[in-house]
Formats: sequence, structure tokens, C-alpha cells
Amino acid sequence: MFKLSRRSFLKLSGSSAAVAAGSALPSSAFSSSAKMGASHKAANLPKAKGPRVIVVGGGWSGLTMAKYLKRENPKFDVVMIEKRATFMSCPISNLWLADVVGLEFLQHSFLDAAKNNNYIFFNATVVDVDRGSRKVYTEQGFVNYDYLVLAPGIDYNYASIGVTDPGDIVEMQQRYPAGFMPGSEHLSIKNKLAEFEGGTFLLTTPAGNYRCLPGPYERACMVASIFKKEKIKGKVLLIDANPDITIKKEGFHAAFDKFYKGIIDYQPGQVIKSVDVAKKTVNTEFESYKFDDAAIYPSVRAARLIETLGLVSKDSMQKEANIDVLKYNVIGDNRVYVTGDARPMPFSKSGNTSNSEAKFVARLIAARSRGKELEWESPNTICYSAVTADPLQSISVDAYYKYNSKDKSFAFDRVKMFQDWDTARGQANLEWARGLYRDMFS
Ligand SMILES: Cc1cc2nc3c(=O)[nH]c(=O)nc-3n(C[C@H](O)[C@H](O)[C@H](O)COP(=O)(O)OP(=O)(O)OC[C@H]3O[C@@H](n4cnc5c(N)ncnc54)[C@H](O)[C@@H]3O)c2cc1C
Repeated sequence: MFKLSRRSFLKLSGSSAAVAAGSALPSSAFSSSAKMGASHKAANLPKAKGPRVIVVGGGWSGLTMAKYLKRENPKFDVVMIEKRATFMSCPISNLWLADVVGLEFLQHSFLDAAKNNNYIFFNATVVDVDRGSRKVYTEQGFVNYDYLVLAPGIDYNYASIGVTDPGDIVEMQQRYPAGFMPGSEHLSIKNKLAEFEGGTFLLTTPAGNYRCLPGPYERACMVASIFKKEKIKGKVLLIDANPDITIKKEGFHAAFDKFYKGIIDYQPGQVIKSVDVAKKTVNTEFESYKFDDAAIYPSVRAARLIETLGLVSKDSMQKEANIDVLKYNVIGDNRVYVTGDARPMPFSKSGNTSNSEAKFVARLIAARSRGKELEWESPNTICYSAVTADPLQSISVDAYYKYNSKDKSFAFDRVKMFQDWDTARGQANLEWARGLYRDMFS
């Protein structure tokens, strides 16, 4: 059976044990909203027509959550607060880099999602929460809630690659964006690839439970496929902090060998200790690597909002929220839930995981609003990865999770790996994305 890597498994049992041991937060563990620039007026929204549920974040978790909360309890008055004006998908963005699809495939309208599913889209940034008076503060005013779901995703941890000075972090973000958060980073990488004339293009895979385990390996394949097609004399240097490819290992190794020999230079077990932006060099414990251009992916942590709200589990290396790992509510507070990539559970940080998980949590909140309880259900991680762009060929994994109540840990369960690529799986990759966009936006 497929197993979690030792590193992720240690992280897995460590974080869940830490959560189990964590003590309840005070009932109003909120920071000073005055200091944070929050408006202390009520936001200009219609009066709630039923129990108001606020969903923070319009990503894969929040969009699914808003739709299914309304479906599970039509009396809920659902407001989704999202700081971006347009949705841009991370999944399929690697294929877009290689021109398999156009930008319109990735972009979708928050307004249509809200209109089609009978909830309110509030384009604002959440800066604070007062759990005592049940208020969410935004720069446009506060909104009262009966239930609150926080799904703000991730932020990067540049200290993990030895970059701590704020000026250096800005340089890194602007010159060598990771491309694992949606929007400008992807556009910037696309521009880099269009202008790349040859030499070494550096990609990196971080340690820990980073967003989209196969993402860096898929990206290496897509960038290498561009070099091959455009006859660019370049190589993709992929520096991996892990001892080996973290998922779909056989498939990716075989693809690197068959399609990209001499183009992809894979360097496992190399933890980046520092980056010299001026000299275009990354240093690991053992080596220094020069590059001509790069997209550098540091480790991830839960979105800063979770820390701002005082919700971080004290032992969480990735600053994830202190929640009941089976019921998703903040410890000691059944009104506030955390889902998606900000969760502390060691599930694969993927869109499909977030989508299936949100359906369960929406049912759970609806059940609790009626005084009922639900047993934990595993999310489902279905993840396709393209290995060639033309023709489009993919490999995939389909997995669930099981919970061990004795040591309070999770492990993969019912894992199906498809590591032999073909064009049918390539088309299934696109169909999977179309299906999930339909699920979130129609
Ligand atoms: C290149 C790439 C390829 C991927 N490929 C796949 C794939 O093939 N299959 C797959 O299943 N997954 C894939 N993923 C992973 C997937 O994109 C993430 O796991 C998923 O987006 C997580 O959903 P989320 O809702 O937790 O976070 P997000 O989708 O990041 O959403 C979080 C949202 O919260 C908003 N937000 C944050 N803070 C605030 C605030 N204070 N106020 C208001 N709004 C806020 C953000 O703007 C954002 O829109 C890929 C990711 C990348 C980067």
C-alpha cells in the first residue's frame, strides 16, 4: 500500500498529537481590531434573513463551503468574504504555462458563483474576529455571524530557505515568485518562460506538508516540455528538500527519464539554506547552484490570518489552526471552523481534498444548527498530474484517509495510484477540473 513519506508521517502524527494535547482557547481570543485598521461600522450588507454563516476565503474550500452550506440548510444566510475580485485556479495552471489551455480556463467569476447558489459575495479583506460578540471585521466594516468558517489558504515561510530580511523577502517574491498562490505569481512565471533564452531555470520543492505535493514535479515536466518544443537550450534544475519525489514517484521518475533526459536535472535531498539574489545562487548544506531564472518555492504555513486571530496550535510548525481534527471547530468554540489548506491535519493540501472536506463540514454545521451531530468522514484526494503537454498525458492518484484514535494520527487509506501515463488520463485531467469548476461556480 502507498505510504506517507517518513517526513510527512512524522509531521502528521506530531501535529495531530499536538492538537489533541492543546488546551482550549479563551472564548474571546481576538486581537485588537482598532490596531489592525478595521472599520468599526457595520458593513453595508443586507440584514440577515436567517442564521448568518460567514465563510472567509473564496478558494476551493470556501467556494464549496458557501454553496453547500446553503444547500444543507436553506435557512442559512451565507456570506462569503474574499479579498480578490477574480478567481484564478492553481490546479491546471502548470498546463496553462505550457499552453495546453488558455487563461479563460483558469478564471471564474465570484459573482456568478454567489448568484447561482443564492449567497452573498462580499469583496473585502478580513482583518480581525471578535469571537466574544461574534463579529468579523473587514476594512469595510464588521459583519455579525452565527457560524464562521475560516478557509484562507496558505502563506509562504521564506525563513525556511534562510530569507528573513523583509527587503530580501520582497526581492524573492518579485523576482522569483513561487507560483503556488493564485494570480500574479502565475502570470509572472508565464512571462519569465516566454522571455527565457537558455541556461538554467531553477524550480524547488520544499519540505513539510506543502501545497500540492505533485505540483513541483508536474511543473518541471511542463517547463521542460516548453524547452523541448521551442528548442531552447535550457535545463530545468529541480532542487528537492525531500529525499525523493514525494508522490507518484515511479511515474515522475519514468517521465523524467523518457521525455526529459538531459533537460530535467533532479537534485533530491538538498535543503536550501540561503539564497543570493544578486549572484543568482542558492546554497544548500552541500552545494551551491547557479541559475539564470527561477521560481523558488519555500515551505508553506497556514495563512497569516489564522495567527492574527490567535488560533495557531502552539506546537504547529506550519502555524496551522488549533481545531478538533475530526470536527474542524476551533477547540472550545463550536461556532468557528477552519478548513482547506489552513487545517492542521496532514491531508494532501489539494483542491479536491478541500472540495470534498467542505461538503462534509457544511453538512456538519447544518446538522449542529439542528442540534444533531455527525461522525467524521474522510476527505478524498483525487489529483492528476500532466507529464507531457503535447499530446497531454497524465498520471493520477485517488486516496482517502483513516484515523487511528489510539495515537491520534492519520494515514492514507484506499489509495489507487495510476503511474502509467496516457492521453485518456490527460483528457480526464481536464474533465476533472471542468467538473470541479462546475461544482463551485454553477
Ligand atoms: C500550481 C498548483 C497546481 C495545483 N494542482 C492541483 C491539482 O491538480 N489538483 C488539486 O486538487 N489541487 C491542486 N493544487 C492545490 C490547490 O490549489 C489548493 O490545495 C487549494 O487551492 C486549497 O484551497 P483553499 O480554499 O484552502 O485555499 P485557496 O484556494 O488558496 O483559497 C484561499 C482564499 O482565501 C482568501 N483569503 C486569504 N486571506 C483572506 C482574508 N484575510 N480576507 C479575505 N480573503 C482571504 C485568498 O484570497 C484565497 O482566495 C494546486 C496548487 C498549485 C499552486
